[in-house]
Amino acid sequence: MAKIAMKNPVVEMDGDEMTRVLWQWIKEDLICPYVDLKTEYYDLGLVNRDKTDDQVTVQAAEANKKYKVGVKCATITPNAQRVEEYNLKQMWKSPNGTIRRILDGTVFRAPILAKGITPYIPGWTKPIVLARHAYGDVYAGVETRTAQGDKAYLVVEGADGSVKEKLLVQDFSKGDGIVQAVHNMDASIASFARSCFNYALDVKMPLWFATKDTISKKYDHRFKDIFAEIFEAEYKDKFAAAGIEYMYTLIDDAVARVVRSSGGIVWACKNYDGDVMSDMVATAYGSLGLMSSVLVSPDGNYEFEAAHGTVTRHYYKHRRGEETSTNSVATIFAWTGALAKRGELDGTPELVAFAKKLEQATVSTIEAGEMTGDLIPLFHVEGITPKKLNSREFLRAVASRL
Ligand code: NAP
Ligand code: MG
Repeated sequence: MAKIAMKNPVVEMDGDEMTRVLWQWIKEDLICPYVDLKTEYYDLGLVNRDKTDDQVTVQAAEANKKYKVGVKCATITPNAQRVEEYNLKQMWKSPNGTIRRILDGTVFRAPILAKGITPYIPGWTKPIVLARHAYGDVYAGVETRTAQGDKAYLVVEGADGSVKEKLLVQDFSKGDGIVQAVHNMDASIASFARSCFNYALDVKMPLWFATKDTISKKYDHRFKDIFAEIFEAEYKDKFAAAGIEYMYTLIDDAVARVVRSSGGIVWACKNYDGDVMSDMVATAYGSLGLMSSVLVSPDGNYEFEAAHGTVTRHYYKHRRGEETSTNSVATIFAWTGALAKRGELDGTPELVAFAKKLEQATVSTIEAGEMTGDLIPLFHVEGITPKKLNSREFLRAVASRL
C-alpha cells in the first residue's frame, strides 16, 4: 500500500513520562505505517526545556502559528519536587500557559464516546464540549481583608490621573470583612467569542453561552453584549446556513439545561464557570483518558492534545520494567485531530479519511471489550466481559482493526 502523502507539516511537540512513551508507540503502530508523516519536531520534554532555557516552548508555539496545526504530548509543569528530581536551572512555567499566551486561544475540551462506557449522567448520549475563557476575572483578581471602620471604594483614574469614578463598595462600620476587584478586556472577550463561534461552526453543534448578567449588570452584561454584537455582525448567517443555533441564557439556567440535555452542544463558560464545570463534565463522562482538548485561536491556529497529564505513577512502573495499562485514546485523538485539520486545510481528503478511520478503529476496539484498565469498571455491555490489555497491546488491537 502506498502511504498517504502530506503537503504541509504538523508541529509535533513531544513531552514527558508515560505519555512520551505512548507518543512513540502511537507513531510506530498507528501512523507511520500508513502516512508519510511530515512533522516539524520540538522536544518539549522537561530535560530539553531546561537545556534550552525553555526557548523550545516559545519556538514550538511560533511554529504552531506558522503552520497553523500542532499536536502536543503531555508535559510536566515543574514544582519544587521536579526541580530536585530533574536538577533544573529554575522552576520553568507551564508550557501550556506559555503556548496559550502566544496563540491567544480558547481551550475546548470534548469527551470521546464509546458504546458500553456509560456516563454518570446516562442521558448524555452525545458529547458536551466545554469552552473556557482563559483570561481575567478572579484569576487576575485583587483582594484584601478589611477591618471594622474601613471603607472600600472602586476608583477609576483617567489617562491624565484624574479620578473619573469612585464607587463605594462597602462601609465596614459594623465589622471586619473582605473585598475583591476583578477585570476583563473587551478584546479578550471578543476573541473568546469568535473562537467559540468558529468552533461551533467547525463541529456543527449549537453554542450556548451563559453569565449572570441579571445580577452583574455591567460586568457580565458586557460579555453578553459582545457575544451578541459579534454574532449579529459576523456569524448569524453562517449559523443559519449550518443549521445551528446560538443561545444565551443565565448560568444557573444553563446548568439545569445541560444536565437535562442529551449533549451535542458547545458550552462556552466564563473563566471560573469553565474551571468548575470542566471537571464536572469530564468526571461525568467517565475517564480522563477519554477527554480530548484543543486550543483554537481567533486567527485559525489549532493545537491538539490530551486533557490528562503525563501519568507519572504509570511511568515509574514502566521504568522499573513493569507492565502498565495506560489509556492512549486521548493522545491518539490528539493526533487524529491534528491530521484531520491538516488534511482539511491542505485539501488532502485521504488524510482526513485516515484520521476518521483511526478514530473509528480506536472506539470500536473499546466497544468490542478490549481496553485499558481504567475503563474496565466503567464498561457495561451484556454478553461482553471486558478484557484488560497492557499499553502496547491496546495499540496493537487498534492497529489490527485499522
Ligand atoms: P495525570 O497525569 O493526569 O494523572 C493522574 C491520575 O489519573 C493517574 O495517576 C491515573 O490514575 C489517572 N490517569 C490520567 N490519565 C490516564 C491515562 N491516560 N490512563 C490511565 N490513567 C490515567 O495528572 P497528575 O498526576 O496530576 O500530573 C502528572 C504530571 O502531568 C504533572 O507533572 C503535571 O504537571 C502534568 N500535567 C500535564 C498536563 C498537560 O501537559 N496538559 C495536564 C495535567 C498535568 P492511577 O494512578 O490511579 O492509575
Ligand atoms: Mg480546575
